[in-house]
Amino acid sequence: MRFETQLVHAGEPRPRPQHAVVMPIYQSSTYEYDGAGNYHDLKYIRLNNTPNHAALHDKLAALEGTEAALVTASGMAAISSTLLSLLGAGDHLLAHDGLYGGTYDLLARDLPRLGITTTFVDANRPETWAAHVTPHTRAFYVETITNPLTQVVALDEVARFTRERGMVSIIDNTMATPVNYRPAAHGFDLIVHSATKYLNGHNDIVAGVVAGRADLVAAVKHKVDHLGGALDPHACFLLHRGLKTLAVRVRYQNESALELAGFLAGHPRVRRVNYPGLPSHESHARASRWLAGGGGIISFELDGDVAAAEQLISRVTLPIHAPSLGGPETLITRPAIMSHAGLSPEARQRQGIADTLIRISVGLEATADLIEDFTAALGA
Ligand SMILES: *Cc1c(COP(=O)(O)O)cnc(C)c1O
Repeated sequence: MRFETQLVHAGEPRPRPQHAVVMPIYQSSTYEYDGAGNYHDLKYIRLNNTPNHAALHDKLAALEGTEAALVTASGMAAISSTLLSLLGAGDHLLAHDGLYGGTYDLLARDLPRLGITTTFVDANRPETWAAHVTPHTRAFYVETITNPLTQVVALDEVARFTRERGMVSIIDNTMATPVNYRPAAHGFDLIVHSATKYLNGHNDIVAGVVAGRADLVAAVKHKVDHLGGALDPHACFLLHRGLKTLAVRVRYQNESALELAGFLAGHPRVRRVNYPGLPSHESHARASRWLAGGGGIISFELDGDVAAAEQLISRVTLPIHAPSLGGPETLITRPAIMSHAGLSPEARQRQGIADTLIRISVGLEATADLIEDFTAALGA
């Protein structure tokens, strides 16, 4: 099956339950004992193994081209459980300096209390990595397209570097989705997602995904079982429904974002636009080589101060001033006060996230309506 067909048909149970065309919701916390040999195989919602979970696991593994996949209660549940399954006291991690704010906080503040330390490196510069590897370095963590600067770091080099040293490579593929990038085909061991974003795609649930080698995913599942980060069956149903339209949504958002980014780059009031699909972007060469599309996230800075940025955000009428991304509604935010508010001002500055930076998650509206809206708001 090709990707679009997998979105619709992979993982669907055969025979169909009661001949239902759409996977029904199994709203039962517990199931009659059927001879399971160990605790983790007892059927129970917290053990992430009801029929709604199983169908999603098979579909997601097909989409990412991995042996196994697991859904979780949120993207952060996927990320924290993955790291806690791989790392223990004394272990060390390499991570790109420019991760999602919640992940950065987890690595910089929470994990050190458990004896797990992280060195943040510039994943654009492979020649700098080896100096930070210790005998306890177990993994390297990156994101496919960083947020909000939309950088594509040296992904193939990360996968190769970790494989050569017997480390585990982990990639957060939220921003690209398997429509634009399939990390397993590039050698990544574990893929995590905030399925809250594009995979579900409708701004109406919180969910996460872990995909990868079966033995690694099984270890993450045991951790999720104990930490309690299972996905509820109703959220499974919504994620399952959202996934079927992933390819048509993401391809539309790729095209719409490219057009809007081009418009912004040509506007006299805009100083700088970050979008990997633009030839002016520092990551354009990598994005063109590895990604099928630049994704739906654009960030930019006006020629002006924070007040000018705030004014634009209040003047646009279609984009909603809200965090998160990947849904039908175009959202606009200032990362310094939302997604990256947890970082210190120094950390934000080091990563190049100015207080005046504006981020847009391009939705599914007509591109021309968005451009007209920005034209009016910028001209006012
Ligand atoms: C939103 C997001 C997360 C966290 O996901 P939640 O579903 O909110 O827990 C992690 N990584 C990236 C890249 C995100 O955008």
